[in-house]
Amino acid sequence: MNKSKVLILYTGGTFGMVPEHSKDLSSNLIPGSLEDLGKYMPALEEDGFFANSGVSITYEPLGEPKDSSDFVPADWVLITKRIEEDYDNYDAFILIQGTDTMAYTASALSFMIDGLAKPIIITGSQLPISHPRTDAISNLTNSIYLAAYKSFDLENISEVLICFNDDLLRGNRATKYSTNDLEGFESPNFNSLASLEERIIVNKKALVKGKSTEFRTQCKMEDRVVIVPLFPGYSPNYLRSMVNDMDIKGIVFRAFGAGNYFMSPEFIKVLEEARAKEIVMLNTTQCYQGSVHYGKYITNKGMAECGVINGEDLTLEASITKMMWCLGNYSYSDAINVLGNSIKGEMTN
Ligand code: ASP
Repeated sequence: MNKSKVLILYTGGTFGMVPEHSKDLSSNLIPGSLEDLGKYMPALEEDGFFANSGVSITYEPLGEPKDSSDFVPADWVLITKRIEEDYDNYDAFILIQGTDTMAYTASALSFMIDGLAKPIIITGSQLPISHPRTDAISNLTNSIYLAAYKSFDLENISEVLICFNDDLLRGNRATKYSTNDLEGFESPNFNSLASLEERIIVNKKALVKGKSTEFRTQCKMEDRVVIVPLFPGYSPNYLRSMVNDMDIKGIVFRAFGAGNYFMSPEFIKVLEEARAKEIVMLNTTQCYQGSVHYGKYITNKGMAECGVINGEDLTLEASITKMMWCLGNYSYSDAINVLGNSIKGEMTN
């Protein structure tokens, strides 16, 4: 029997939430401490299924449990540093967190960690583990199977992943797509890395190849960044006052279709002003699926000419966290270069 060592870090989210008033199950859900995970999952007990399968599991809370809507970049740093501290002592890491910002965490971690040779699997649930219809048990169980790949004769998927419902997704390709559906997450522009049905089938062709570098972390995140969704009637004046009156370093545009905008000379003038101030600009699409395509329409020519980087098929979560990370760790010109290229399988180029 092959042995596996897995560290589970619990940060909160619906997974461990409890009703604010214990006698009123419909009262607001608030973060719970979830000290005794084994109470809900006998498979985790000392003589339970996982121990008998050679899996040694360490479970610990990381910080005060909270709703992931309260996450800030410092939480991503805390998680990354905790993993770094024990990187050599475990075969894989599982992070339990809320679903609301799970895809942001997954994207941020994928950029902060380099040379990853082990799985980091993020999971959570739509219903608390104490609910009779909970999805928490199957989501965590699936995550443990993938983390304990040695014991279950599976691939070592050494990426930052989201394991939810019956899918394993590359974290920086995933997006929360439903507040209700137990599927919760989708990867609109990239295939699932594994399907978790009766059998677990890994999509080997889709995995990131070749980890030549040593494990290291780069955790600085620039928070002087904004997301600007365009819409018919958007006044370039708002953009102008942001560019000129606020100390911003990066803008992620959510443009129409293939990265298109309205042909307004005023808008272009503001983009030029932003470029002159060395504000890094990234163009992404507000479509759920698909990519920015420079050169396809005249209506994205101006953006390209003003140096707005082609963000191709980046998700919203990957685009803003990559912007924060690039600006935190690179000079202006290097950030432009790194933003336009796929570094962790987050975009198709
Ligand atoms: N609001 C919750 C959170 O993100 C939602 C969830 O976990 O599903 O923490």
